[in-house]
Amino acid sequence: MTDREPKFDREPKIDQGRDSALVSANGRNGRNREETLMTDSTRRTILAGTLAASTLAGTRAGAEAGAAPDATRTPAQAPGYYRYRVGEARVTAVTDGANTFPLPERFVLNADRAAVSAALVADFRDGASLTVPFTPLVIETGGRRIVIDTGNGEAAFQASQRAVGQFHANLRMAGFDRAAIDTVVISHFHGDHVNGLLTADGQPAFPNAEILVPEPEWAYWMDDGAMSRAPAGRLQDGFRNARRVFDALARKVTPYAWDREILPGLTALGAPGHTPGHTAFLLASGSESLFVQSDVTNVPVLFARNPGWHVMYDQDPAMAEATRRRIYDRIATERTLLQGFHYPFPAVGHLEKTAQGYREVLVPWNPVLR
Ligand SMILES: [Zn+2]
Repeated sequence: MTDREPKFDREPKIDQGRDSALVSANGRNGRNREETLMTDSTRRTILAGTLAASTLAGTRAGAEAGAAPDATRTPAQAPGYYRYRVGEARVTAVTDGANTFPLPERFVLNADRAAVSAALVADFRDGASLTVPFTPLVIETGGRRIVIDTGNGEAAFQASQRAVGQFHANLRMAGFDRAAIDTVVISHFHGDHVNGLLTADGQPAFPNAEILVPEPEWAYWMDDGAMSRAPAGRLQDGFRNARRVFDALARKVTPYAWDREILPGLTALGAPGHTPGHTAFLLASGSESLFVQSDVTNVPVLFARNPGWHVMYDQDPAMAEATRRRIYDRIATERTLLQGFHYPFPAVGHLEKTAQGYREVLVPWNPVLR
């Protein structure tokens, strides 16, 4: 243990002190860090539920005019992180937030919007919109602090009205100094996984970390020929964004190969289709293991339950489906613990085979860390 090791046993006391200091400071100074973790829609819900109509009208008018909200009436969501152990390794799921948007006409390439909407309604969701969460991980093992994927980035925090880009704030609240992260492992180069490599002003967010990237992913997105052949729109934008991020890091990355242990206990597994170099991971420690699926599926309510459905983000949908079926079949059969980047927070659970596909069974919240 080094002096950089976070002192988790002291953390609740520290956080409590911070929170009450922020709440009292907010009365005088307006917005605070705690408040910034709450989305506007959450705030509206809380306001609507707790304030008298006359006060509500006044507060809404004030908020629209840019006035500071009253923190005593707008409690923030708690910082989003959740710890558990896998053998000797400690895993912390850290939320980057969630994006809610109107359900697109073709969110699922090979199913009608009505069928997708019905699947959401059957799960007690609003059938007209979709919420996609983002959950990067921290793994502490063998004296190292490893981050897997980085969320939408701090620049997205304000742009999304605080809905996403929360990872770095929650990482800090979980007791981690990002300057003390040793390694960042990237699963693939979509913006919701790599944009958090940079700070809001485009500087390296993990100044002392080695950045590990999948070799086939690096080869594809850095290939000028592939970029020139990419159609305008999402794919062309993907090339631009990947280069924006990695150019800001002076392309200082370490490519890794599949089917190898890339860090002690962490094996990279090829899961292509979503992108050409899309990678999942198996963390093994002692007799326990954790499968980190990255984007083998998007939200499980749609794509675990209907593994034949093709999300609009899959670059090679048929290959992505083959990958999904192969991996999910194995996870369900072997009862492996699963961490899913787009699963509901804290995004850890198991898969059960059903007649049509799989059903996700999330782990019960555990109040103690053994
Ligand atoms: Zn993703």
